[in-house]
Amino acid sequence: MKAAAHLLLLAASAAGAEPVRIQVLGLFRSPLADLQPAGAGPLIVETPRGNVVLEGRATLRLRAANAPAALPPGSRFRLRIPGKIDRDYHGALRVQEDGAALALVVEMEIETAVASVVAAESVPGAPPAALQAQAVVARSFYRALRGRHSRADFCDTTHCQFLRHPPRAGSPARDAALSTRGLTLEYRGRAIEAFFSSRCGGRTRALAEAGWAISAYPYFAVECASCRRDRRPAQGHRVGLCQHGAAAMARGGAGFRQILAHYFPGAEVR
Ligand SMILES: [Zn+2]
Ligand SMILES: [Zn+2]
Repeated sequence: MKAAAHLLLLAASAAGAEPVRIQVLGLFRSPLADLQPAGAGPLIVETPRGNVVLEGRATLRLRAANAPAALPPGSRFRLRIPGKIDRDYHGALRVQEDGAALALVVEMEIETAVASVVAAESVPGAPPAALQAQAVVARSFYRALRGRHSRADFCDTTHCQFLRHPPRAGSPARDAALSTRGLTLEYRGRAIEAFFSSRCGGRTRALAEAGWAISAYPYFAVECASCRRDRRPAQGHRVGLCQHGAAAMARGGAGFRQILAHYFPGAEVR
């Protein structure tokens, strides 16, 4: 009986989990990185030579030559490439060697990744409905395009989706992810790799206009009233969601479903 209850619990937690693997900080091609705790608890770093426990401000220098190493799921940690960048993460870490460089792959919950993308990519001052639309778009991209890289599903640059620190609980980006949890844009029963760009210039583009032949969803050229009024030049590829147009729709009282229906005609939010 006890064993059965335990199995049930395991099944329930597995059903809720939807990890995505993201290779981070790969642009730097760095042979080393410093690893530190970024949460209350210690970090337990698994290495072939045994576990290393990091507490407080303790730092472990990771080197390509000393890979592999790993952190278990649920770890809160900071990675620093000295003199270049430091970022916090929440998830599991796998450290491998890639030639002379480190390959750092973070496996995180899809909702953590979605909130991180919303925080990194949204237009400053965008209202909640625009952030919610961005969250559904980011989640759809992750669900539709798994396995884009050899070591991970995605990278952390604009090649896939840009992401920085996971936002704090109660922040607008985290709330946008939470309030749309699990929702995806679908077309004919499959998640769309929903594209977005900053400013469409008054009209978005269909896939054929962009010269892309990469999606089952054709995308459509739709009018974007606020960009038309703005008369500012387009920024980005103009396919899919227009971020400035979405922010204007949200300021005008539109909900995220209305925004998505406008920029993705024929698609459904599920
Ligand atoms: Zn990528
Ligand atoms: Zn626009």
